[in-house]
Amino acid sequence: MPRDPDCIFCKITAGDIPSHTVYEDEDVFAFLDIGPLAEGHVLIIPRDHHSELAAMPAELCAKIASLLPRLGRAALGVTGAEGFNVLVNNGAAAGQVVGHVHWHLIPRQTRDGLGYRWNAGEYAEGRAAQVADAYKAALASAGR
Ligand code: 5GP
Ligand code: ZN
Repeated sequence: MPRDPDCIFCKITAGDIPSHTVYEDEDVFAFLDIGPLAEGHVLIIPRDHHSELAAMPAELCAKIASLLPRLGRAALGVTGAEGFNVLVNNGAAAGQVVGHVHWHLIPRQTRDGLGYRWNAGEYAEGRAAQVADAYKAALASAGR
């Protein structure tokens, strides 16, 4: 779907809601997050409305991915950050609030206090092989 009239990010790309744009081309739009986790926190979105990463065309996803090194270098240069996170919240369970797929580009400093609860688990004996086989079967039967 090219545009969703009820979508806040479609309104931003259309210019109906103002934003601080940092990059745009015919397919991609990037702008400052209104509630930044760090100064220079950018949202990168396709102009066309796609609700989530798992539902978007691979070629468009590849176009956005191809811009990440350049946008990342800009984030480092502009903010003086030592690193950055690139994050997609796909689905409400993963924290997605706005239903127009977006990549967060978040500048990071070593001791900025941001972070995840990264509670690493472990697989029971044999379970990892089962899960990997399930992935292979799903990927073999699915389209691109
Ligand atoms: P999500 O939780 O869906 O991954 O992230 C949505 C992001 O969109 C949030 O970080 C939020 O601050 C940002 N956001 C929501 N509404 C607006 C808006 O109107 N303008 C801008 N620039 N960012 C927004
Ligand atoms: Zn939209």
